[in-house]
Amino acid sequence: MILKIKNQEKIEQLAEKHQAFSIHYKGSQYLITSSSVKEVPEELERIVEESWVFPNDMQLSSREFQKETREVKIGEVTIGGNTNHTLLIGGPCSVESLSQIRESAELISSMGLTTLRGGCYKPRTSPYSFQGLGLEGLKLLAQMREEYGLRVITEVRDATHVDEVIEHSDVVQIGAKAMYDQGILRACAKINKPVLLKRGFGSTLQEFVQAAEFILSGGNDQVILCERGIRTFETNTRFTLDLCGVAYLQEFTNLPIILDPSHALGYRYGIERLSKACVAMGVDGLLIEAHPNPAVAKSDASQQLSHEQFRNLKTAIEPVAESVGYKIV
Ligand code: PEP
Ligand code: MN
Repeated sequence: MILKIKNQEKIEQLAEKHQAFSIHYKGSQYLITSSSVKEVPEELERIVEESWVFPNDMQLSSREFQKETREVKIGEVTIGGNTNHTLLIGGPCSVESLSQIRESAELISSMGLTTLRGGCYKPRTSPYSFQGLGLEGLKLLAQMREEYGLRVITEVRDATHVDEVIEHSDVVQIGAKAMYDQGILRACAKINKPVLLKRGFGSTLQEFVQAAEFILSGGNDQVILCERGIRTFETNTRFTLDLCGVAYLQEFTNLPIILDPSHALGYRYGIERLSKACVAMGVDGLLIEAHPNPAVAKSDASQQLSHEQFRNLKTAIEPVAESVGYKIV
């Protein structure tokens, strides 16, 4: 249950007493309890201005609590709200070297885009694969931010380096395998930066949204959901992009949604067509992996686009975005 509490009340003390979370949001203060609470506790009646009852723990993220999609600002660009922006995010799977990430930054900037993504702590399925450059990679991304005036997104693999990633990135990405990591979720709840939360490939929509609720209820209202494919019985594609799930999230949650066809399909050949399908749904962003020389990429080589393919993709999705009233930014 969410309770909007009169502003003159001391919300933190009330939260402790009622085993609730307290947040300040858009000039008001709220208590959030488990959704099993269905009535305003008697002793709070006098100070509650408004209350919301929920069938499950999708609460702050729910359109019942807030009808409009949340606005999230990434540098000069805002997504969500009534912006009708689809943010095209590009960059390599992994930051590999200064020259490589500079070429990527050059690409993004020359296309009039604003947001560069590259992984530095890679959550690989084998310990023998390239694990990322770590802090050195974060510094290279920060250098690209300075040199090209870009915003950078990078992912946190586990809670040991969460503070480092928070310090060096403009948007913190929580990868699919880290979606349940309580240390990461709780650390990201305390920051004042957008968080791109990827759906675990074996997670239900409710588990996905509840992971977002850890961040929202901890006080960070800037959460973006990312659908990146789920595991099904199919093995010819790497994962299965759950567009039905996207329709559900658009209908029932107030969180902006970014789609990642690169990790879903796992192969270059269909990324442009899949991207058109994603954009046609009127989404808040698209995350595409591109590498200056995909053949030698140290991770996800088969799915990364060449820079020429990435440019062509933008040209191909622009009219699709326009046809549904959106603009690629
Ligand atoms: C990535 O974004 O490069 C990545 C590892 O993705 P995911 O967490 O979706 O597997
Ligand atoms: Mn990748």
